[in-house]
This record gives sequence, structure tokens and C-alpha cells, in this order.
Amino acid sequence: MLQRVAVVGAGAAGLCAARHILARPNRFWPPVVFELSDHVGGTWCYDERAGMLDDKQVHSSMYRDLRTNLPKEVMMFPDFPFDSGLNSFLPHQEVQRYLESYCLSHDIRPHIRFSVMVENVKPVDEERARWEVTSSDLSGCQKTELFDAVFVCSGHYSEPHIPEIPGLENFKGQVLHSHLYRFAEPFSGRSVVVLGAKASGLDISMELARVGAKVILSHRRPRLTFPLPCGIQQSSEVVAVEADGRIRFQDDSRSHADVLMFCTGYVYKFPFLDAGQLGLEIHDHTVSPLYRYLLPPAFPSLFFIGICKIICPFPNFNCQAEMEEEARRELQEKVSRGVEQRHLLVLDQDQWDYCRSLADAANFPPLCPAVCSLYKEVAHQRQIHPQNYRMRNYRLLSDTEWELRD
Ligand code: FAD
Repeated sequence: MLQRVAVVGAGAAGLCAARHILARPNRFWPPVVFELSDHVGGTWCYDERAGMLDDKQVHSSMYRDLRTNLPKEVMMFPDFPFDSGLNSFLPHQEVQRYLESYCLSHDIRPHIRFSVMVENVKPVDEERARWEVTSSDLSGCQKTELFDAVFVCSGHYSEPHIPEIPGLENFKGQVLHSHLYRFAEPFSGRSVVVLGAKASGLDISMELARVGAKVILSHRRPRLTFPLPCGIQQSSEVVAVEADGRIRFQDDSRSHADVLMFCTGYVYKFPFLDAGQLGLEIHDHTVSPLYRYLLPPAFPSLFFIGICKIICPFPNFNCQAEMEEEARRELQEKVSRGVEQRHLLVLDQDQWDYCRSLADAANFPPLCPAVCSLYKEVAHQRQIHPQNYRMRNYRLLSDTEWELRD
């Protein structure tokens, strides 16, 4: 019997899930893709209304001048290359165009219900084989439907993580999270303390410095050794805001600032799921236990796609107990290696083995070695030339080789 599948979200993960469901007409009905906005692309659809709307109403954290931090040769879906005439590092508009064209090529659009929000997903029968999905449209009209499986593809870069900072309420300037940052001009001539020196923290600091903001880049990483542009000064972690509004750093220095910009990442949030009912623990930085980072062992027809930013095929619905044991073993192994709770879903160099094991299990070709070696090369270049690593262009020559273009 054909299965009915619901997909929550029409970003990259949801489109990818829908494409693979559509490719198996002998197993599945065409999916129902629920998308709360009126477009595909999710994160990649730049939304300039940030600041005008309540931050809960803004899904995308994309900023105006963002260029990808991975080359297109590594970012692409393996079976759907970007236009070969494009540079390797792309402005966000190109990625959005790419996702629209992916959607068109695979004829996914007719299966998307735009401006419809999934409000509740819950298992309905004892065998846990079916799901009740409640959604509502713009007019507030609610609908509840039955599905055999649900793919959760709602993204995890929308809900800001703001660390606890004693005395934050004393700060007299503007407090902002990178989720709502769009462009640098309004910060020209202002002093900004940027918290966090990962991808967004570094990018945004450089954008701010370019328009003449005075940036203090505060982070707890080892001191950055590459040259930072003039206008950016490094500092230790922010530990508190004093009663007089000055920011205090770990090294006991203090500074006034006009803006406190949190580039401190995002938290996982799935308001339409009841974690307890699913046997899951959903905290700010973890969702567990998830078998192979994909599905709760107790509910093997609920899939989390893209939770580790990796394209997923159909996993194997196998013995529930075995899956649970494996999921817990994997987790324990990470904890015993000293991996912090909030880093449990960070794969980095583990991603190659992870992808290979999925490919072996589902019998599809593994990622080619060139993607792995180019990814590593770009990570290296980003470390040593954070300002201009995006100037380079690459070309994949074969499964194992790539070269520098130009
Ligand atoms: P999203 O793109 O967030 O899509 C989720 C979709 O689900 C949205 O359309 C949303 O409207 C919908 N949705 C959510 N809740 C509901 C609901 N209840 N009902 C119905 N619909 C719902 N990745 C890279 O590979 N390279 C990069 O250079 C890169 N740069 C990035 C820069 C920034 C600033 C950010 C924030 C992310 C970046 N990423 C990058 C990661 C990026 O998020 C992924 O590439 C990808 O977009 C994730 O896709 P997704 O489908 O999982 O989530």
C-alpha cells in the first residue's frame, strides 16, 4: 500500500525530502509539503523586514551581503550542480535561485501548501505507525490529516541563543542578535561589541568595520592569530554588564558600547512536537536520542532532515530496540570523548564516516573524496585568510580531484 508523507518546511531539506519521495511512486503518494511562508528556500530567502516585525515572525537569518562560506562545488545536492559559470562562493540570491530551480526541475511546487503552518504533529495509533498533522492557513482555518510518516524539515537557524549575562538589563544601548542583522550601514561610526567569533560573528564584524564601526570582537576561542581588519579589536568573553552600563570582560577590562550584538548561534525548537510524548529530549543545542541523527528510536516514521545540515535519504526502519541502543551508545561514546552536550550534533570531521554509513545502509553512492578534500582545503583557507578566502574559485575535475580556477 502506498504511504502518505507530510513534509514540514520547503527549505533545502524539505525540498530534498520531497524530491526523494516523489522519485518513489511505487512506495509513496506525492508528499504534502507544508510551508508557512509564501516561498521555497527557507533560510536563503532574504527577508529585509527584520526589525520591523517581531523576531518570531522572521524565519530567515540571512544578511544582505552574505556570501556562502562553502564553495558551490561542495554545497550542491550531489545530483543537481549549480550553474558552472558561477563563481564558487555565491551571494545568497544565487542559492535561492538554485533552490527554486531544484523545486521546478523536480516538479515539487504542486505539492507545496504555501502560507500554511504546521501546529501539531502527534502519533495516533498504538503501533505508532500513523501521524495526525494539524495545520492552519492564513485565515486561521485549521485542518487535521492523517499521514504514515512525517519529515521535520523546519530548520534550526531562526531561534536565537542568547547566553546568560548577569546585569544585561543595565546595558543602555541597543541589544541585537545576528538573526535580525541585515546590513552594516546603520552601525557606521558606532561602537559595537560582537559576541562570538564563528561564521556570523566574523563576517558581521568585518562588515561593520568596513563602514567605520568600532568593533570589539569578544569570544572565548583561543586568540585569533590571523590579521583582523583595522577597526576590529579582539577581546575575551563578556562576563557581565555593570550597574553603570559598561561591559565587563573576562580579563576584567571594561568598555562602553552603543550596541551589543549577539552572534551566539541558535537553538533547536519544534513547537509542533511534544518531545516527552516522543521519548525525546529537546534542549537548546541537542535533540536526543536520534538514531543516526535522523529519527527517534521509539517513532521510526518521524524523520528529522537537515538537523546536522546533511542531505538524507530514506533510512532503514529497523528494530526499535536496536536503534535505541545504537543511538544511546553513539551518544555515550561522544560524551566519554569529552564532547560537550551542546556540541553533540556537531559532526565536522565525523561527517564523512556518517555519510558513508548512510550510503552503505541505503545503497547509494557515497560522497566523492573530492568534496571531502575541498571542504578541508576551504576550512584551512578560512582559518588563515578569513577576509579573502572567498576570492578563490574551484572546479571539480573528477570524483577525487579538484583544482583552483583562474
Ligand atoms: P530552512 O532553510 O530554515 O527551511 C525551513 C523551512 O521550514 C522554512 O521555509 C520555514 O518557513 C518552514 N517552517 C518552519 N516551521 C514551519 C511550520 N511549523 N510549518 C510550516 N513550515 C515551517 N549552509 C551552507 O551550506 N552554506 C552556507 O554558506 C551557509 N550559510 C549560512 C548563513 C546563515 C546566516 C545561516 C543562518 C545559515 C547558513 N547555512 C549555510 C545553513 C543553511 O541553513 C542551510 O544551507 C539550509 O538552508 C538549511 O535548510 P533547512 O531546509 O534545514 O532549513
